Amino acid sequence: MDFPPIREELRGLEPYGAPQLDVPVQLNTNENPYGPSAACADDIAAAVREAALTLNRYPDREHVALRAALAAYLSRDTPHGVTPDQVWAANGSNEVMLQLLQAFGGPGRTAMSFAPTYSMYPEYARDTSTTWVQGRRAEDFSLDLDAAREAVERERPSVVLLPSPNNPTGTALPPEAVGLLCKAAASYEPGGLVVVDEAYGEFRRSGVPSAVELLPTYRNLVVTRTMSKAFAAAGLRLGYLAADPAICDAIRVVRLPYHLSAVTQAAALAALRHAPELLGRVDELRAERDGCVDWLREQGLTVADSDANFVLFGTFADRHAVWQGLLDRGVLIREVGPDGWLRVSIGTADEMMAFKQAMTEVMQTVAARTLGMEAQA
Ligand SMILES: *Cc1c(COP(=O)(O)O)cnc(C)c1O
Repeated sequence: MDFPPIREELRGLEPYGAPQLDVPVQLNTNENPYGPSAACADDIAAAVREAALTLNRYPDREHVALRAALAAYLSRDTPHGVTPDQVWAANGSNEVMLQLLQAFGGPGRTAMSFAPTYSMYPEYARDTSTTWVQGRRAEDFSLDLDAAREAVERERPSVVLLPSPNNPTGTALPPEAVGLLCKAAASYEPGGLVVVDEAYGEFRRSGVPSAVELLPTYRNLVVTRTMSKAFAAAGLRLGYLAADPAICDAIRVVRLPYHLSAVTQAAALAALRHAPELLGRVDELRAERDGCVDWLREQGLTVADSDANFVLFGTFADRHAVWQGLLDRGVLIREVGPDGWLRVSIGTADEMMAFKQAMTEVMQTVAARTLGMEAQA
């Protein structure tokens, strides 16, 4: 008999996770390379101490103060403003999306996205016994709008998951695309939600709007955000969404009791008070990103336009050899995305220098010898 008696569809599967290797330059999980300041850390510590004095009590189930602070933060991205009852938070936006599928997916229902995209989405679907359907993005990683609309009308998904900017390609969705898919998902009974995952929203290039602006127009639109990337707080585990209050109410039915600890709520509130500081390096990282795109193109590589804090580039006949060559030189990037492509997260100026130096060496040695780089062919 097989032990443990795990669900049939989970048997033999490996848990998700990028390798957490101890190397000098870690550019593989899209974290912010800059940690919080000492002043911010002190404030978080003081807030957590305060919360610790009442840890005998369960936390505020509805995390009212935190939702108000997140609503105020999001209101900067839209002339319409965002109210606290439009906001819901959980332990990372991954948990927010799992809760969405628990409430809106499930047996007999479908969730869909368009590949290449975030590898966690099919896992939320699997874990909630939701049917998973995946369309394809165009050659340049944008959405083919006619094909996407047809796919939604045909599959009638309960949840459409659309990262913008997309991971791992960095591609942002224009507002027209979001609107078109919201309309398509409202054209059948009982209709579907369109979830725009803006985990990297703060890194978008100037002139690229946030889908938060569209919330008053489309009732079935959900925008998710996280403090893990631009906010330099991946270790905090705090993600959130903005949507119609009725959607937040539906999630309250499936969330675990007291899912967001008093410690997390206190730390997140303190971190939000330091938003200007924590977000202060975003412009620097965006400039570093644009520089990285240019540099890789100068090397003769193909590079996807990026609105995020990472860059997808290629194409290599043997991407693993390039990845390994970089790792041998102390630089860890991510082997992810379509065949032949690699993804590098944007680090500090020094880290990006180390990446470029290592790339130059790898392309001169390994690449020239065995890789047959298509970009130069
Ligand atoms: C990093 C990332 C997230 C954020 O996950 P958290 O659980 O908030 O840390 C969400 N979506 C995508 C596409 C990501 O790449």
